[in-house]
Amino acid sequence: MALIVMKFGGTSVANVERIKNVARHVKREVDAGNRVAVVVSAMSGATNQLVSWVREASLLHDAREYDAVVASGEQVTAGILAICLQSIGVSARSWQGWQIPILTDNAHGAARIKDIDGRKLLARLNDGEVAVVTGFQGIEPERQRLATLGRGGSDTSAVALAIALKADLCDIYTDVDGIYTTDPRIVPKARRLSKISYEEMLEMASLGSKVLQTRSVELAMVYKMRTRVLSSFTAPDAMQATSPETWGEIGTIVCSEDEIVEQQVVSGIAYAKDEAKVTLLKIEDKPGVAASVFGPLAEANVNVDMIVQNLSSDGKHTDMTFTVQEAELPRALEVLKGVQKEIGYFDVKSSADVVKVSVIGVGMRSHAGVAAMMFKALAAKGINILAITTSEIKISVLIDANYSELAVRTLHSLYGLDKE
Ligand code: ASP
Ligand code: MG
Repeated sequence: MALIVMKFGGTSVANVERIKNVARHVKREVDAGNRVAVVVSAMSGATNQLVSWVREASLLHDAREYDAVVASGEQVTAGILAICLQSIGVSARSWQGWQIPILTDNAHGAARIKDIDGRKLLARLNDGEVAVVTGFQGIEPERQRLATLGRGGSDTSAVALAIALKADLCDIYTDVDGIYTTDPRIVPKARRLSKISYEEMLEMASLGSKVLQTRSVELAMVYKMRTRVLSSFTAPDAMQATSPETWGEIGTIVCSEDEIVEQQVVSGIAYAKDEAKVTLLKIEDKPGVAASVFGPLAEANVNVDMIVQNLSSDGKHTDMTFTVQEAELPRALEVLKGVQKEIGYFDVKSSADVVKVSVIGVGMRSHAGVAAMMFKALAAKGINILAITTSEIKISVLIDANYSELAVRTLHSLYGLDKE
């Protein structure tokens, strides 16, 4: 029998009724003889509420107290689920991060897990008790303070715990039944992928598909933890208990590339709406200019993504365009205003009405012409490309937000991803 980690996200535990449903999923696994550690998120909306109370109290708050407050959401869910399990005859207890312990660094609000000592927990699992673990939190050992892992961090808790316990697999239960070739709300013909490689999932996660926290995919990739995304809304008794033989039958498995037999050239199309574009007009065309633009932005913690610098027509001046997260646009503009004299640009223009559309696939490494095909198809629809970036396994273009749906649909069928 297997040792499994089951993680349930906010919508899966949104109220006590749903937590009872989760308990039935867990019971199914226990009845089949699996050893189970469960990781839970806060009830949906709870973390947002806690964050807003902290902000209301003070905009400039102590990060350790922020963590003390926002970590409480998961504690509620863990306790309630343990109660629900006990009441259907499943032996269970809740575990908070510090009790295991899950040790983190001291970057409060966005801490990283440094170590998990799984021994105590494992001993209880071996005795047949289900462990219900609070996601999203750990303890910073030096000051002995609670620390949280950043929004969406329960996914990372689950994968990290699975690694620490040497689990056979990590099941992430959510409100969708897997990873799709693109957003099914935009493209009804989107298909569920039965498998996706870690690398592709990483691109998808960081490019706006919000199913898994990026950090959790990085961890799974480094430790080769086989992770599956599946829906908690499937009736608990309509599903087979998890076993290494049958767990490829539902959901999407995130795994190594070589486990995927029929690899497509392109596996998915992602899009990100929270992008903003900044253009600096007439900056001097001389060595050191890029450094003087991006240095101050980096110092102000503004992440820059795509960068395009035009050719200089007069040999003296040029224009430069780059993108930042929409939420960081005001800060970026403020920083640029502060250094206008130093950089010596004439004017700055910005717009948040842009989206980044990306084509992702490990098959691109060995196939030429994927980009050319993309540009041609977009041109045929009259879609203008504002900026381009590429990596080994993805091509991203920045376009006018009005065209985002058309672009995603066009590319989805272009690369043969539509379901019949
Ligand atoms: N409750 C936390 C959040 O809403 C962590 C998580 O759900 O993954 O961000
Ligand atoms: Mg999540």
